[in-house]
Amino acid sequence: MLQSGGLVSDKIIIELIEDWLRLHGGHGFVFDGFPRTLPQAESLMSILARLRSALDLVIWLEVSEQTVRDRIAGRLQCGECGFTTSSSSAQFANRPICPYCDGPLERRNDDDLSVLQTRLQEFRTKTEPLASFFEKMSVLHRIDGNRDREAVFSDISRLIEDKR
Ligand SMILES: [Zn+2]
Repeated sequence: MLQSGGLVSDKIIIELIEDWLRLHGGHGFVFDGFPRTLPQAESLMSILARLRSALDLVIWLEVSEQTVRDRIAGRLQCGECGFTTSSSSAQFANRPICPYCDGPLERRNDDDLSVLQTRLQEFRTKTEPLASFFEKMSVLHRIDGNRDREAVFSDISRLIEDKR
C-alpha cells in the first residue's frame, strides 16, 4: 500500500493517534502529516473533544506540482541508512557521501516519480477537502511552501509563537 504511493488506512492511523493522545494527554502536541483525510480530521476533533482539548493551529503548506517534481528530481538518499537530503542543500555535490554513515548518496527518481501521480491524485481527492474543513473552524493558516526552507521555517515559527 505504502510502496504504491497510497495512504495508510484511516482506521489504523486514527487508532495510533488516539493511543498516543491518551498516553501523552491532549495538550502541547504537533502532528506532521496528520490528518490527511476527512474521516481522520473528524475523528481527531472528537478525540480532542473527549480530552477537553482544543486544536489551536492548522498549518497548510501550499506547494505547486512543479515544486514537488523539482524536489523529487533533486532528492538524494543514502543507500545504507536511508538518510534523505536534496542535491541543492547538500554541500557534497562532487562526493555524494552520507554525513551519518559514509554510505553512498544516490538518486531514486524513477521509484519516486512512479508513485507521484498516485500521491497527487490521493491528495486532490482526499486531503484537499481538509482545507475548507479547518477553514470553517478558523484554525487554518496557509503558508507558501514553494520558497526555501528558511523562509518557510520562519513563517511556521512565527505562527506558533503567536499562539503561545
Ligand atoms: Zn547513511
